[in-house]
Amino acid sequence: MKIRVRVAPSPTGFLHIGTAQSALYNWLFARKNKGEFCLRIEDTDKERSTKEYEQSILDALEWLGLNWEGKVIRQSERTEKYKNALEKLLFEGRAFYCHHTKEELEGEAKDQAQNKKAQFHDCEHKNSEEGKKSGGLIRLAVERNSDRKVVFDDIIRGRIEFEAKLMSDVSLGNGFDRLLYNFTAVVDDIDMEITHVIRGEDHVSNTPKQILIYEALGKTPPQFAHLPLILAPDRSKLSKRHGAVAVVDYKKDYLPEAIINFLGAMSCTFSKEILTKQEMIQEFELSKVHKSGAVFDVKKLNWLNSQYAKKLSPEEFKKSVGIPEIPDSAVPLITERLEKLSDAHHFDYFWKEPKYDKDLLKWKKSTLENSLETLIKVKKIIKEFDFKKEKDELRKILDEFSIAVGDRGLIYWPLRVALTGKEKSPDPVDIAYVLGKEKTLERVRFALGI
Ligand SMILES: [Zn+2]
Repeated sequence: MKIRVRVAPSPTGFLHIGTAQSALYNWLFARKNKGEFCLRIEDTDKERSTKEYEQSILDALEWLGLNWEGKVIRQSERTEKYKNALEKLLFEGRAFYCHHTKEELEGEAKDQAQNKKAQFHDCEHKNSEEGKKSGGLIRLAVERNSDRKVVFDDIIRGRIEFEAKLMSDVSLGNGFDRLLYNFTAVVDDIDMEITHVIRGEDHVSNTPKQILIYEALGKTPPQFAHLPLILAPDRSKLSKRHGAVAVVDYKKDYLPEAIINFLGAMSCTFSKEILTKQEMIQEFELSKVHKSGAVFDVKKLNWLNSQYAKKLSPEEFKKSVGIPEIPDSAVPLITERLEKLSDAHHFDYFWKEPKYDKDLLKWKKSTLENSLETLIKVKKIIKEFDFKKEKDELRKILDEFSIAVGDRGLIYWPLRVALTGKEKSPDPVDIAYVLGKEKTLERVRFALGI
């Protein structure tokens, strides 16, 4: 049996970070088992689905390197398949027309809530002639006169049971034009020969309904594995109110390798913190996926991103941050200090003249006059120094000078500001060596106003 899995996003928004994680675990499972990872676009909601969102989802999956097998399956192109399946269920008497109005159903739900009963709709039209007359909501008939339990062995969560008598007659469609999620998903998963449905735990309650639809269609259900949800720091389900949840929002700040490593390790145990996709494939087992949800820890993501950024060549780094003018020799100084890719702009003094207020040149334990006087002496040292020598030589001379002056800050602070226009930066000697002797002297002269 060839293993086939899928991810099935709706193009009613950008790719959610949680869907990206589901996609990753499906992808890893397929790669590990030499199976196939498929992509289905669930675009039956005509009002809210757009082609732009669909394209952005495909782009995000490609950016993450989660390549899928074969053509993209679109639900909007499969209407005939659903109609045929639904007609069959109606013809065989497994499905029926409910005829209850929205108001009646809402009233029933309200009563059940008031009486603290579980919500369900046991429709009296199921076995009546009325149920055969077309119109309105189509439901799957659930046999309720038994102690039957709908059971499945979840690969991650173990055995899960639902009592059939507590389940509503499953809604399949509002007529033939508005087919509902559980029905279309099952028809698709059958046609796509999906062997394992790996998805978020918010789908656990859909699973018994889908199992009954499989049975009614005369098919064996696939195996199910429900992944834990990604949680916000307050341990509620991560949503827009907690900040960015779309993969596209992470693109400007993070490397795809860092996102993949982060999402993979968030809810699954691997042997080490940093690992390539290939290593993840080798180690991945659904049994290693955690049962409880993990908190989205942006500090961890930043750390991972910095680790991956350090591994990039200057060419790769410049491309990733979209700043071709960064000098190659500045790249290690930047990646040493960078968490988000957009932080690279904070180091623009490497390729742009810094702008700053002259008062910034004043070392806090001294006067502006003293600071500039010392900078004149530092300029002299730099001018007489041969940059072909090791930079530690220059550092040694400046250190000796600062011992003589008795205040290290008085030497390095004005030089740092002259070269960067900032209060914080890498070591000024390192910066001078990236800029070169001429540019360094030019910036010092500018600071001194000469
Ligand atoms: Zn009804």
